[in-house]
Amino acid sequence: MTETRSTCPYCGVGCGVIIESDGPQITGVRGDPDHPANFGKLCTKGSTLHLTATPAITRQTRLLQPLRRLRLAQLLQRPRFELAQTGRVRTELVARVLERVEVP
Ligand code: SF4
Repeated sequence: MTETRSTCPYCGVGCGVIIESDGPQITGVRGDPDHPANFGKLCTKGSTLHLTATPAITRQTRLLQPLRRLRLAQLLQRPRFELAQTGRVRTELVARVLERVEVP
């Protein structure tokens, strides 16, 4: 088991946490007793932080490739997102921003 000191990302308090992991899998989180913001204590959200990193949850929520939201006319039909190629999306975004930006 590996322990890594870090910061809870949920709010501005920035409590110190110690993340327990086994290889790439996070197995637990506890408060860092040496951190001046929380002295080892965590609220409910912070103390359940590791539950957001279970294999079942990360498989559902982690994007493995870029998705592009369809335009309004296409939103009326499913699916609402389509797989996108990073380079093509970047080119489309630049074109759309340039349509709306006035260059003096
Ligand atoms: S443990 Fe709770 S109070 Fe501390 S940073 Fe996380 S959400 Fe905020």
